[in-house]
Amino acid sequence: MPNPLSSNPPHDCPLCPRLVEFRNYQQSRYPNAHNQPVAEFGDPDGRLLIVGLAPGQRGANSTGRPFTGDYAGKVLYPALLKFGFARGVFAENADDGLELIDCRITNAVRCLPPQNRPTAAEINQCRPFLKASIGTSDRLRVILALGRIAHESVLRCHGHSLAGHPFVHGQNHVIDDKLTLVDSYHCSQYNIFTRRLSVEQFESIVSHCNLILKNII
Ligand code: SF4
Repeated sequence: MPNPLSSNPPHDCPLCPRLVEFRNYQQSRYPNAHNQPVAEFGDPDGRLLIVGLAPGQRGANSTGRPFTGDYAGKVLYPALLKFGFARGVFAENADDGLELIDCRITNAVRCLPPQNRPTAAEINQCRPFLKASIGTSDRLRVILALGRIAHESVLRCHGHSLAGHPFVHGQNHVIDDKLTLVDSYHCSQYNIFTRRLSVEQFESIVSHCNLILKNII
C-alpha cells in the first residue's frame, strides 16, 4: 500500500480500480506517454500551492508535469511568469526548464479520469496525497483552488464544512491563522471558450494571491 504520508503516490498506485484500469488502457494505447499518477511540481517550500482537478489526457497524463501540454497550462504558466511565480520559458513540455518560484502545483486527483470526471470515491481516495502536499511545508500561506472539486477537497483536508465555505470565484476562505484558500474557476479551455473565465480575470486571481503573500491585502 502507498505510504499515506507521501505527497506523491507511487507510479502504480492501486487505490482506485476504475482509474487503474483506465491507466492500463492508456499505457497500452499510448506507450510513450506518462500514463502514471502525476507528481506535484515546483518549490517544495513554496508559500503558494495551486490545486487543480486532475491530469488532462493531452496534458499532464501525457507529459508527466501538471498543466503541461494542454490548454489550461497556456493560461496558468504565463500568469505565473507574469506575477513572479515562475522563471524561464514555458514551452509546453516537461523539459522546458521552467522553474516555479515560491509556488507548487498539484491536483486533487493524481490519475487521469475518464471524461475528466473523477468520482466522489476517487476524490476521497486521493485526498491523503493532497493532505500530505498541504502539510509538507510550514511556509505554506495560500492555496489557490482551481474549481469546485479542488476547493472542496482542500476544505475536507482541514475538516471544514462545505456549507460554511461555498465555492465562489475570487473569494478568500480562512483555513487557519496562517493559511488562506482562494477560489478560482478552473483555467480550462472549456471555461475560457465559454467565457465563464477570461485570461484577464484569471491573471487577477494570481495577482490577488501575490498581494496576499506580500501582506498587501
Ligand atoms: S487517483 Fe490517487 S488514490 Fe487513486 S489510484 Fe491515482 S494516485 Fe492512487
